[in-house]
Amino acid sequence: MNIGFEKIAPTPGYPAGTTAAALIGLTWESRANVAIAFRGGLKLALRTVQLGRCCFCRRHLYDDYATHLEHFVDKATFPRFAYEIRNLALSCGTCNIRKNAYFSTWDRRYRFMTRNFVGPVLIRCPVLSVALNSCDAFPAIPANFSWVNPHFHNYSQHILVARGWVFEGQSPEGRRTIRSLKLNEVGQIERRALAERLEARGGALSMLVGAISVLDQHRANDVKDAIIKVIRRRREAAKASGGN
Ligand SMILES: [Zn+2]
Repeated sequence: MNIGFEKIAPTPGYPAGTTAAALIGLTWESRANVAIAFRGGLKLALRTVQLGRCCFCRRHLYDDYATHLEHFVDKATFPRFAYEIRNLALSCGTCNIRKNAYFSTWDRRYRFMTRNFVGPVLIRCPVLSVALNSCDAFPAIPANFSWVNPHFHNYSQHILVARGWVFEGQSPEGRRTIRSLKLNEVGQIERRALAERLEARGGALSMLVGAISVLDQHRANDVKDAIIKVIRRRREAAKASGGN
């Protein structure tokens, strides 16, 4: 299935009016003009390079408000990477929520496991295969990451997406990303959305045209099931209104 883009390349530059030096020390939530310009400008640039698709599940990004600037290495653990362009990618709301949930569970476990350590605890993050010291530079080679990184890995070497939004891991990084973000639940969301879109179409012919147009993404059986559901619902609705 068409996954849109392999990786974020070329890496976008700093948006107009912003520089790395001007952003040093600012929190991600900063209302400084340079921070606002950076977030807005980078979001637009990434939308172009990512061909309007989520960096994790590769579904289309629709509403701008439901599109998140995602810190691959989390900014809570590594605030100094908050404005690092190679640490930022656009994700859909579903992947963003799942990644945050995974990170908070992981963080609680890590804190519990290291609660009795004496001396400095290494700074770790679930997407990194290496521990970092507080002054280390941003890790910038594929082997430094334990999940599929949209800037450094070619997606299809690690994850294959079959029709019906079935994700198949091709490497440990791919399998870890699929498992942690529960990517194989995306198919269920997409099937529900498909049924809603078909339902919204008026006549049978319009519904058929809609069904044909999604055959590159959905399995034929899933499309057939969605059509049958819509037809049944319409019949029941007609019966109910006839009985009144
Ligand atoms: Zn996604």
